Amino acid sequence: MPEPDAEPNLILIIDDSADTIRLLSGMLKDQGQILFATSGEMGIQLAQSRQPALILLDVEMTGMNGYEVCTALKADAATKECAVIIITAHTGMDSEIRALEAGAVDFITKPFNPPVVRARVQTHLRLQQHTAMMRQLANRDGLTGLYNRRCFDESLAQEFERHRRQHSPLALALIDIDHFKAYNDHYGHPQGDVCLQRVATAIDTVARRPGELVARYGGEEFVIILPHSDTHGARKYGERLCEVVRNLQLAHQASETADQVTISVGVASLVPSVESTTLQLIALADQALYQAKAAGRNRAIVSTRP
Ligand SMILES: [Mg+2]
Repeated sequence: MPEPDAEPNLILIIDDSADTIRLLSGMLKDQGQILFATSGEMGIQLAQSRQPALILLDVEMTGMNGYEVCTALKADAATKECAVIIITAHTGMDSEIRALEAGAVDFITKPFNPPVVRARVQTHLRLQQHTAMMRQLANRDGLTGLYNRRCFDESLAQEFERHRRQHSPLALALIDIDHFKAYNDHYGHPQGDVCLQRVATAIDTVARRPGELVARYGGEEFVIILPHSDTHGARKYGERLCEVVRNLQLAHQASETADQVTISVGVASLVPSVESTTLQLIALADQALYQAKAAGRNRAIVSTRP
């Protein structure tokens, strides 16, 4: 899955001194919503569940120290995008280098200079917003807002490996809008874009389980990654997709299949083995999609091949 986006302007302070937390909260209260934790262990848990944009992290703490906490945050996919500013009473190059090596973006020394603290926090919150926007642009399809092909390829490769390790079935649903070229010819490309958006939104509502990823695969093709789904589950899923698109009741006078927009769906599921590849899974779903079209479209066909 693509990394979760951090919550904008959520700041987490991790410090074992209640006085320091109070002091920093006072300085930063205008800059965002503030959470705090009084130990590294608690801080990590809170960061995992809330994904703050920025973490102010004390170095000198009992239990895990700040460097250890920072290293752990950076090693965890759920928290590695959080920007960490290390706070310490030690000045000097050594502690600064250690902080940066642990993955911190900046370094603040005690005693605090409030305008400096505020300025640095603001800078990093802005950078985080910018990064989140760039990530969004890199992963999403501009027209439909779904994940794009690049993001799909990466996620499929990761899920394939994960399911191989877990000996669990992974399914794909390939979706194609029936007679879409005829739709564009008849209604024009601006209306064709609206059709793509409506269908994209509809199929996205079907994907609700964690880990399911809906992407635009190409022109009028979409694809859904279905974790831990066998053939039986995938078949129901494919039928549900056809149904939600029919329920849109988008007129399609140029369709040979129905008087409204319909889709064809090819579904395949396999338990990845040492020899199998993502390309095989895609090819199976593609063959099933071809069969769905050959059988009259407006239907889901599940690959019977392993
Ligand atoms: Mg301390």
